[in-house]
Amino acid sequence: MGKRKRGLYLLLRLNRWTLALAGGLCAAALLLVTVQAAAAPEESVAVPAVMYHAVLQDTSRHGRYTVSPQEFESDLQYLTSHGYTTVVMADLIAYTQGGTLPEKPVLITFDDGYYNNYVYAYPIAQQMGCRFVLSPVGIWADQYTETGEENAYYSHIVWEKLRKMADSGTVELQNHSYDLHQTGKGRSGAKPLPGEDPGAYEALLTADLTRAQEDFTGHGCPAPTTFVYPYGAYAPSTQEIVRKLGFAATLTCEEKIARITRDPESLYGIGRFLRPSGLSSQAFFENRMKLGQEE
Ligand SMILES: [Zn+2]
Repeated sequence: MGKRKRGLYLLLRLNRWTLALAGGLCAAALLLVTVQAAAAPEESVAVPAVMYHAVLQDTSRHGRYTVSPQEFESDLQYLTSHGYTTVVMADLIAYTQGGTLPEKPVLITFDDGYYNNYVYAYPIAQQMGCRFVLSPVGIWADQYTETGEENAYYSHIVWEKLRKMADSGTVELQNHSYDLHQTGKGRSGAKPLPGEDPGAYEALLTADLTRAQEDFTGHGCPAPTTFVYPYGAYAPSTQEIVRKLGFAATLTCEEKIARITRDPESLYGIGRFLRPSGLSSQAFFENRMKLGQEE
């Protein structure tokens, strides 16, 4: 073999190796993409969520929006004994950023910030090592902080106690509007009025939610990450504005079990089941929420 021919031969051999190597890499990459694509749909976690409002001993008050302390305690006992672990929104947000979740997460939520949540639900959860999301309405917390009135039947939690609960790690505070928890003036919660000017609506919602955020941080509480729709009322534009304001998640009153994926979008529109009084924990979780059958 002459020098030139040998050189050409080596070059061809090299090319063959390079081609083989490149081909191998392509195949490996393709395999990786295929494996990832196949794994992606499975990488979602069912997150059942329960919605409570008031907790009172007085049986004459029990109903859709008021449970007894015993019912709440029994619910937590049912969940923990069936392998569920209570999580808060920070855990779900972390999951979309690559974090981990317990095998059977459950979200416990209290809306409106009733003082009786502090009296009953907070110590029960603390004692059982459970956590919950509490979403007070800004103006009500302000009003009772000003008067200092504390009554389990009707008052709302004052800022000092909201902060104390948040500091304990048992409670995570979220935004339930500053002053949109009303149906007066024709508006249902944070939803736009029929035919409302989009710019005016955005300005109103932005001002209200921002004021609530400032109320939390101004009282030494962490800034909420989630907006909890008053009455579960919202329109597509509500969701867009809430997202634009930087909220990572929204909670609704649609009775469905959310599936959280690695996609942060899965945090918007999380459903919750209203827990009424008068049902056993087993009847509520198994018949109403169909826990264990969500797959
Ligand atoms: Zn509410």
